[in-house]
Amino acid sequence: MFRRVYLDNSATTAVDPAVVEAMLPYLTEDYGNASSIHFFGQRARAAVDKARHQVADLLNARPNEVIFTSGGTESNNLAVRGFAEANQQHGHHIISSVIEHSAVKTVCEDLEEKGFDITYLPVNEAGIVRIEDVAAAVRDDTILITVMLANNEIGTLQPVEEIGRMVRQLKDQGHRIRFHTDAVQAAGKMPVDVEAIGCDLLSISGHKIYAPKGIGALYVRRGTRLHPQNIGGRQERGIRGGTESVPNIVAIGKAAEMAKQELSSEIVKLSSLLSRFESKVGERVPDIVFNGDRDRRLPNISNISFRGVEGEGLLINLDMHGIAVSTGSACSSGSIEPSRIIAALGRDDQLARSAIRFSFGKNNSVEDVDQVLEVLPHAVESLRTLSRNS
Ligand SMILES: *Cc1c(COP(=O)(O)O)cnc(C)c1O
Repeated sequence: MFRRVYLDNSATTAVDPAVVEAMLPYLTEDYGNASSIHFFGQRARAAVDKARHQVADLLNARPNEVIFTSGGTESNNLAVRGFAEANQQHGHHIISSVIEHSAVKTVCEDLEEKGFDITYLPVNEAGIVRIEDVAAAVRDDTILITVMLANNEIGTLQPVEEIGRMVRQLKDQGHRIRFHTDAVQAAGKMPVDVEAIGCDLLSISGHKIYAPKGIGALYVRRGTRLHPQNIGGRQERGIRGGTESVPNIVAIGKAAEMAKQELSSEIVKLSSLLSRFESKVGERVPDIVFNGDRDRRLPNISNISFRGVEGEGLLINLDMHGIAVSTGSACSSGSIEPSRIIAALGRDDQLARSAIRFSFGKNNSVEDVDQVLEVLPHAVESLRTLSRNS
């Protein structure tokens, strides 16, 4: 029997059945507009309020610091462009990194065209920004640091708590600087606490934590001014206009609640799947390079370069055997560009082109790992033989 194994949970996840169950009534019975005054509206408003508490709880935030958006991309747009537009009287300098998700990178590039000055911090060979580089980049006119919590291709964790501490000290000295972090990959895979991090803005997305696509949230610390990117309605305290997607908001609330409840057991489960996978790949497949930091990383992402193999070719070969993986960010697959993230680690072009991301999720099992371990050595060997003979 042909059995498919999904190892692309960093691209998107299956919606949890309990999340579906929680959101369904808000499609058919409690379909009111949360802004309406009547009974139907009140039911919807109560559901949105509850979800706001659930998301706030996951992040150790206050409910009125949570803004619902359409996803991680919009959260990042609202955080970075919304902040830049609302605070440009204090300066035009923003600090980011070379390994941000395209939803931050592209916004930064767009702001550059509008007169902002962006410093893109490099990373070391494990994919980590150095705190000394962050400190050295800060200027009097720096208004924002945007550095992600965990990278989506290699899972490496950035020193966000150190950055947060530095930003707090600068604020104490009267500096206007603020700190945004993209926590889309980190949420549900590690503790994400806005107070421990010391950030002012933090992005999450529903479909990376077993809620549907098209819903996300932005944590906005009290007193942080943002220029709305969607205008035309007074929803979300005027920061994000548009009728609330109540079913999706209920879904991300439920998903956040479950992520919090299941966090410690998920970490144990994912780490054990990952270490089984990595130790056996290391034994069975010669000439590979693990990308990213071995310790400071998420428990569910393994990124490996297979020397002498085209990543796209391996992805297609694995897919024919029922195994779904990624060559990096989903947005860049389909193009034959080497991963800019792997290239930023200082790997040569060939290694950057041969990188594959295996990302595990809560629906994966030991059988899944073992099935990949059956297929992968042959797939790599046959592609290497092909390229040797061509
Ligand atoms: C997926 C992802 C996003 C984008 O989120 P969407 O909800 O798909 O728009 C942003 N940042 C990171 C790190 C991601 O992995």
